[in-house]
Amino acid sequence: MARICVYCGSNSGARPVYQEAARELAAVLLRHDYELVYGGADKGIMGVIADAMLELGGKVHGVIPKMLCEKELAHQNLTELHIVASMHERKTMMAALSDGFIALPGGYGTLEELIEMITWGQLKFHDKPCGLLNVDGYFDHLLAYLDHATAEGFLRVENRKMLLCDDTAAGLLRQFEAYSAPKVEKWAH
Ligand code: AMP
Repeated sequence: MARICVYCGSNSGARPVYQEAARELAAVLLRHDYELVYGGADKGIMGVIADAMLELGGKVHGVIPKMLCEKELAHQNLTELHIVASMHERKTMMAALSDGFIALPGGYGTLEELIEMITWGQLKFHDKPCGLLNVDGYFDHLLAYLDHATAEGFLRVENRKMLLCDDTAAGLLRQFEAYSAPKVEKWAH
């Protein structure tokens, strides 16, 4: 069974549209027969997507550091909850368990996790798809920054294109299934 990792806010966001998008993504993941891998918390958008998957009969794998678990932030009803020693161990396990990576709206944690995965992809440590679900234009400023980095010569066009983006979950999953990693090496001239 294939699994998609979703990085998303431990807060709920200022508008209901973010929670609605998380529920919609859960439904689309299930329609494509994917299981969910995520950070294991029951708070914010993280809790919303986990609950939506479980309510629809899907499987959810959480990976949470012991320290956060002890603060009672862990979801208690997941299919599987991995408790790990550190944030580094968590990210490594989430990456190994998953066949692709999606960011829903979130803050520092969400951005850091997704950017780490696309960085590993760019260096060819993996060839799995990474994408943004651009709910109501939430990531427009990030996309503008990445276009700027490309125009200024810090990001290759091929590597810029690796980051998939769609404003609907169904559209993003279609792009995931058509994805193949670029052949060019990041350091080639
Ligand atoms: P943020 O976007 O800053 O809210 O961080 C969310 C991301 O970082 C999630 O994908 C989690 O993997 C991780 N994270 C941040 N805060 C928590 C928390 N309180 N409990 C569990 N994971 C968290």
